[in-house]
Order: sequence, then structure tokens, then C-alpha cells
Amino acid sequence: MSARTVTVATSDHGDVTMAEPSWCDGLHKTGGARSDLTHNGLPLEVAFNDGTVLAYGQLCQWPYSEVASRKPYIAVELGGGEHEYDDADLVELQQKLATFAAVTIPELRVRLSAALAEARL
Ligand SMILES: [Zn+2]
Repeated sequence: MSARTVTVATSDHGDVTMAEPSWCDGLHKTGGARSDLTHNGLPLEVAFNDGTVLAYGQLCQWPYSEVASRKPYIAVELGGGEHEYDDADLVELQQKLATFAAVTIPELRVRLSAALAEARL
């Protein structure tokens, strides 16, 4: 368990002091319900050469969730919407997806494993 703590003002439980995981970015929304408090890790992104993010994943946790697991998990978002590709774009897409599968997802698994060990949940 991390020795760090963070205190966040909530609308229903006043100031809540909670353990701050080592992987959290330290940004917490204040003024909401305690059950809406989250920890978020820095995202790992795969982006096209023009900077458009194709996919990202990050550690997340809802430490006071009343409806879902309180364990850390990985959130993955894939670029939404329809895009137009020519052949060169398709080659780039293929390379980026391969990188996401071969590099990013294994790194996310390592991060999740460490976060679960730290949380001891
Ligand atoms: Zn946090």
C-alpha cells in the first residue's frame, strides 16, 4: 500500500482522505460524490504521424464505487468515428495497430499487475 494520501472535497462526505496509488496522476475532481472519486494513470497512446490518437490505455480505479469493482483496471479507448484511408494510410494503420498489440497492451498488463499488487485487492 502506498504511503501517500490525498484529500478531496466531496459533496456527500466532506473532505475524503484516501490512499494515493503510486501510478495515479494526482488529478482528482472535487465537489462530486465520494463514489465518483477516481484515480487515473498516465495514458499510453498510439498515434498516427499527424498526431491523431488511434488508441490509448490507462490505469483507472474507482476506490469508493458503489456499483462496480473497486480494483484497478485498464481503460482502453479506440479512436472513434469513421476515417478515410488511402493505401499509405492503411500501411500506417497496420503498423500502429501492430504496435498497440505488441507493445502497448503488454505494458498495460504489466502496469495493471503492479497496480493490483499495490492495492492488495
Ligand atoms: Zn489518485
